[in-house]
Amino acid sequence: MLDRLMRDGLAGLFVLCLLTAPPALAQPAGQSTHTTTQAPENVILLIPDGFGPASATFARDYLRATSGRFELAFDSLHIGSTRTASSDSRITDSAAAGTALATGHKTYNGAISVDSTGRPVAHLVEAAEARGMTTGLVVTSRITHATPAVFSAHVRDRGEEDRIAVQQLDAGIEILMGGGLRHFLPDASGGQRTDGRNLVDEATEAGYHVVRSASALKQAPREGALLGLFADSHMAYEIDRAQTQQPRLATMTRHALDRLSGSENGFFLMVEGSRIDHAGHSNDAAAHLQDILAFEEAVTAALDYARSDGETLVLVLSDHETGGLSVGRNRDGEGIYEWHPAPLAKVTASQGAMVRSIMDGSEPERVLATSAGIDSLRAEETERLRAATGNPRALHAALSEIIGRRSLVGWTSLAHTAVDVSTYAYGPGWEAFIGSHENTYIAHALARLLDADLEALTPRSETTEIRSR
Ligand SMILES: [Zn+2]
Repeated sequence: MLDRLMRDGLAGLFVLCLLTAPPALAQPAGQSTHTTTQAPENVILLIPDGFGPASATFARDYLRATSGRFELAFDSLHIGSTRTASSDSRITDSAAAGTALATGHKTYNGAISVDSTGRPVAHLVEAAEARGMTTGLVVTSRITHATPAVFSAHVRDRGEEDRIAVQQLDAGIEILMGGGLRHFLPDASGGQRTDGRNLVDEATEAGYHVVRSASALKQAPREGALLGLFADSHMAYEIDRAQTQQPRLATMTRHALDRLSGSENGFFLMVEGSRIDHAGHSNDAAAHLQDILAFEEAVTAALDYARSDGETLVLVLSDHETGGLSVGRNRDGEGIYEWHPAPLAKVTASQGAMVRSIMDGSEPERVLATSAGIDSLRAEETERLRAATGNPRALHAALSEIIGRRSLVGWTSLAHTAVDVSTYAYGPGWEAFIGSHENTYIAHALARLLDADLEALTPRSETTEIRSR
């Protein structure tokens, strides 16, 4: 009876809450007050690759401890979560996760916008191009890497990056920026293509303005198509970027928005903080952190644009979590109620850069002092570093543990994990993303908002090529 009373009482209370919920409950504080039932004119989809729920806490706590800022730029736009499993694994890779977000199809790990049978399926950039929208992809990985590839190509294996590059230039995309120059140049010109094609020359002939450095990007004319290839492979981690000629992710994003802003039929821009994921794979806390903050700056650029424009949907969502990041961990078998952001502020290089210095002959103790601000090592740590010398993987693990022990940041995997990832949205159509959804839902919801039909664009026979224009 008491049980029943409590149950009924709670149910009644729940109904009462629903009836009396103020509008503010249904609309996160960060949302604009203009009418939100309209369809967006433009879409900016920002993907922090490998950014899990713990990554948000991690970056926010760091800001609170070191800068006096209390929120990430997109915190107040948090409206839901995305489930990430692929068709053949509870733990997705970026190719299957990206294909789900771009096409609405669950597929196998490694697939680039083909379904689980290998059939090409239309993606959102094709849908946008078919509607006459202008499109752009801005990333910090190779532009031929999994996430940008699913928005620009169809291949059965993500490793086919030379083929992906060819398809990307045929896709009618107006702006392509990232790394990956090696897949656009033949051997003879310093690239890796074995078919002898020089896609940089082909792109120029097709009307792309091609740039390879931050200064060339700055000077580039603001109209026409743009191909920015700023590194042979991936662009640098943000923490190492000062040693390069590469632009910041936010600079590339602002440049893209500048070019896209005049689009007569609207635009679709995908921006990826690609290397948040790579730092997770390396269990490199400081590189993970700085790439998150660089991504946050790009989100701020997108939100600034959307707030002044009023017609732009900004959607921020990760494809999966990487590394099993934990803010708080055991030390010597003891659980500890602390984690310390401050030691990460002293780290000025990625673990990869530190490993390269050690492999090139620098003393590990010296590298840790100059690049991580760690002056004294415990005897076991010195011993572990000595034993790892000559073995990059073991050096990565040793450095990660040394830094993790001091900050009490932990990692449980060198791969991805299955945890749901967060969704953030702002602008016309944002309500469509409230709640917990399969990743495939995102593509369907975006297609609906753009009044596009992904199925109609998908050819019935796999021998038919998808034509976006
Ligand atoms: Zn990914």
